[in-house]
Amino acid sequence: MTNSTDTVLLRAVTKQYGTGDRAVTALDDVTVAFPRGSFTAVMGPSGSGKSTLLHCAAGLDRVSDGTVVIDGTELGGLDETRLTLLRRERLGFVFQSFNLVSALTAEQNVALPLRLAGRRPDRAELATALAEVGLGHRGGHRPGELSGGEQQRVAIARALITRPAVLFADEPTGALDTRTSREVLTLLRGIVDRHRQTVIMVTHDPTAAGYADRVLLLADGRIVEELHGRSGAAVIAGRMAALEAPAC
Ligand code: ADP
Repeated sequence: MTNSTDTVLLRAVTKQYGTGDRAVTALDDVTVAFPRGSFTAVMGPSGSGKSTLLHCAAGLDRVSDGTVVIDGTELGGLDETRLTLLRRERLGFVFQSFNLVSALTAEQNVALPLRLAGRRPDRAELATALAEVGLGHRGGHRPGELSGGEQQRVAIARALITRPAVLFADEPTGALDTRTSREVLTLLRGIVDRHRQTVIMVTHDPTAAGYADRVLLLADGRIVEELHGRSGAAVIAGRMAALEAPAC
């Protein structure tokens, strides 16, 4: 079932933490593909396995069983050095807390992944990346001089500068107000639509998930439902409420 258009594939992935009586099955036999150019939201109650799924799909955590394939490369066969290189070169990450380097300007932050890869950043390339996120005029500002939404847009430009196969976003709007969240999500949506960028986003916000093409709902380490197409926030919130309701 490997499909060359899949950027990320999890096949029968199980992840356990601890052993014996203390073993916790955080992911339980999960099979899911993320096709190129798709925007997927991962939702579920607290403890359902969202972070574990993101970490396993991004090679930040080793799986206990099953396989993860990123851009045609099976992660199980890679040693730590190669895995780190693959993450650096093929994956982009955006976090709730932006994680910018406060002493560097926006432009220098965006340049960081290129420097890490041993490449001398090209000014025009950096200017284009900042313009793409609507911050062409803010390149010389440090994070402390930017709003939360602007900082997240710098983080998105930084994540995309290496043209990653997939962008992982972990609660990217968790620290933003409603209006700014909308701007950041519209930006992500536009990047998916214009560049066929694959995005995998963990969120607890049904409005944010409404920007995705597909919503995966997790419960107890399993994908219990998939909503396809642009689902409305009300529909997503309803499905989440059903998952979170105590069983009776
Ligand atoms: P979510 O992101 O949906 O809140 P997680 O993926 O963080 O869920 O956690 C899934 C399950 O795995 C939970 O029961 C959690 O307690 C457990 N878990 C997560 N990380 C660890 C860890 N490092 N050690 C032990 N248990 C963990």
